[in-house]
Amino acid sequence: MNAAALQDLGVAEAGRALADKRLSSVELTTHLLARVAAQHELGCFLHVDEAGALQAAARADERRRSGEGGPLLGVPVAHKDIFVTADEPTTAGSKMLDGYRSPFDATVVARLRAAGMVNLGKLNCDEFAMGSGTENSAFGPARNPWDRRRVPGGSSGGSAAAVAARMVPATTGTDTGGSIRQPASFSGVTGIKPTYGVCSRYGMIAFASSLDQAGVLARSAEDCALLLAAMSGFDPRDATSADRPPQDYAAQMRVPRPDASSSRPLAGLRIGLPREFFPATLDGDVATAVRGALGELEKLGAALVDVSLPRTELSIPVYYIIAPAEASSNLGRYDGVRYGHRASRFDDLLDMYRKTRAEGFGPEVKRRIMIGTYVLSHGYYDAYYLQAQKLRRMIADDFQATFRVCDLIAGPVAPSVAWRIGEQGDDPVKAYLADIFTLPASLAGLPGMSVPAGHGQHGMPVGLQLIGNYFDEAGLLRTAHALQQVTDWHLAVPPGY
Ligand code: GLN
Repeated sequence: MNAAALQDLGVAEAGRALADKRLSSVELTTHLLARVAAQHELGCFLHVDEAGALQAAARADERRRSGEGGPLLGVPVAHKDIFVTADEPTTAGSKMLDGYRSPFDATVVARLRAAGMVNLGKLNCDEFAMGSGTENSAFGPARNPWDRRRVPGGSSGGSAAAVAARMVPATTGTDTGGSIRQPASFSGVTGIKPTYGVCSRYGMIAFASSLDQAGVLARSAEDCALLLAAMSGFDPRDATSADRPPQDYAAQMRVPRPDASSSRPLAGLRIGLPREFFPATLDGDVATAVRGALGELEKLGAALVDVSLPRTELSIPVYYIIAPAEASSNLGRYDGVRYGHRASRFDDLLDMYRKTRAEGFGPEVKRRIMIGTYVLSHGYYDAYYLQAQKLRRMIADDFQATFRVCDLIAGPVAPSVAWRIGEQGDDPVKAYLADIFTLPASLAGLPGMSVPAGHGQHGMPVGLQLIGNYFDEAGLLRTAHALQQVTDWHLAVPPGY
């Protein structure tokens, strides 16, 4: 196969080429590793495991020769550096964990390894996944291949940019308040965050445990389905893991809807458009692209219905109380004693804690620890944290009311296209406000996707967000897949890549 063909292979296609012996995993892995090395300037990878990847590829080829199969066997992947890996360092994008090595693999990593995927390395992200542009990484920003002056989105920015720049067909990401959907939208790739509990959080460095969820970024809904099937499922090591049988999402995605015909595969599907997701302030190009994609879904037979999620705006203060509260507790473990950074000079134990944390954490992480500690403190708990919890329940209830009149919800992923690196200055609230359309589904624990919907201003990609009811990953994937059968937005390659 020629070089351009190799890097353009998606997961499913690569799996078929490997199965037909048109290609070896060593050949594909070697080619992609060279691309990773050549695109160092995008800042996608924090660690590349060349030797480990080539070994895993050779092993996958061996398994194929001995008759083993499977759609992922020998297909390259890379992991957000929030997932711990036994054979590589894990940093969570923080100086606090510089040089840290985990003694074990995260469940998601272990499952994809068991399916035969070849891990190329670890991907850049905002420090402890706190951010929306990968600008909060302690190791420098990742860049958007559609315009290197712009952010790829975040916090899974390295994951999105690496897929967009054809370095790897699929990557893992994590989404606490939008960190898979928003970078997928900004970088023009397909991303899915499943229902809370579908993927194990074991070995996923904790940010806000009641919201954190693993997922996939890839070039198509079908490719997302293949990875999600392999990495999801019950795990006794995660107390909030959903106890459900294994799901074959790629097969479920193909089960036709009851009213479907070949030209109208989405007949009977009701897609709700929350009026709060289409405010007058929405970037015009985002609105146009999203409307265009909705028009295609209509042609495929879906009916668009107007709905309301009245507490959409409140999801911002609610999330920015709950997430920092949980973060302040989770990040208490970085004390310089057991692992990670430790200050080299200190007077006593307290001074060691203080200096270690002052040196190890970046400004955004410190800000969140302070906010979280404040909202949980005596005298303020009832006013902030408790109120936020109550509103969180109301936001989840609003979704359930909406799902009585529609099957899926659609809208933009973000109010704008990717911004320029540094453009937001030191006003963190600007970035917080831009999370408005992804936070509601996170607070409710619902599954969400970002599906490429064309390009807006300056040729930057725009994503269509789809939100489903609990455990309706298959419904999301089926809808996205139907769209991708009749449009080619998801196949667009950034110029020069
Ligand atoms: N942008 C949001 C934040 O900064 C979401 C991050 C995430 O999903 N990890 O918290």
